[in-house]
Amino acid sequence: MLEVKDLHVCVEGSKILKGLSLTILPGEVHAIMGPNGAGKSTLSAVIAGKQGYEVTAGTITFEGRDVLDMEIEERAQAGLLMGFQYPVEIPGVKNIYLLKAALNASREARGESEIPAPEFMKLVKEKLAFMKMDSSFLQRAVNEGFSGGEKKRNEILQMLILEPKLAMLDEIDSGLDIDAMKIVADGVNSLRNADRAILMVTHYQRLLDYIIPDKVHVLVGGRIVKSGDKNLALELESRGYEWVVEESAA
Ligand code: ADP
Ligand code: MG
Ligand code: MG
Repeated sequence: MLEVKDLHVCVEGSKILKGLSLTILPGEVHAIMGPNGAGKSTLSAVIAGKQGYEVTAGTITFEGRDVLDMEIEERAQAGLLMGFQYPVEIPGVKNIYLLKAALNASREARGESEIPAPEFMKLVKEKLAFMKMDSSFLQRAVNEGFSGGEKKRNEILQMLILEPKLAMLDEIDSGLDIDAMKIVADGVNSLRNADRAILMVTHYQRLLDYIIPDKVHVLVGGRIVKSGDKNLALELESRGYEWVVEESAA
């Protein structure tokens, strides 16, 4: 589904990713872990097509298509979606309008007509209830005054409504208390299916007790230096990252 090969990326002249390779198959959940500044956020930003990243070498293909040749909107329409695609507050733009516009854009890309208003409301209400979010969320401006936990729930809500083929979630556990983390994890788990893949960045092993990943990767110094299954996350939790760095340098 997604194949990243020997990716090199510069941000403002400094090399951030230095030969990163990653293959994700449909249905898989991959967790990326690694120290601060390793390049985790850079990876999903480059895949999603955010501005400001210069790819100096390597390739990214998604379902056989050259992702680096696609505009950011084309990537979203192809089903590549980054959570927090709208991380900033958008004053005056109500959450519900953004959700509807995004959904209709993806339907249009699939050659489908606009979703009828009653059907949209039914869908949104069902997903809101699943995320244990109050309907007042819909009337609030995007991310305006949202707490960290609310932003994360909103991010998952967006995914549940847009149903991307590859969902990329950055630090979905940051700022969440245990209850909110479980709700977010339930949301992510409900996204799982045989045709969809999930790439998530997490700092804490704890989240992976709730969302069991198929693969865990350690990103250090702009490369994936070690991959394993959920047990690797447990090992990182108890031993930190230093040993992985030493092992990869040896
Ligand atoms: P991580 O998510 O693993 O903590 P990031 O991908 O956010 O790491 O950042 C990797 C490195 O790239 C860091 O050293 C960071 O300071 C730098 N970096 C990221 N984005 C920018 C930017 N827009 N401008 C300058 N430096 C950046
Ligand atoms: Mg960081
Ligand atoms: Mg980051």
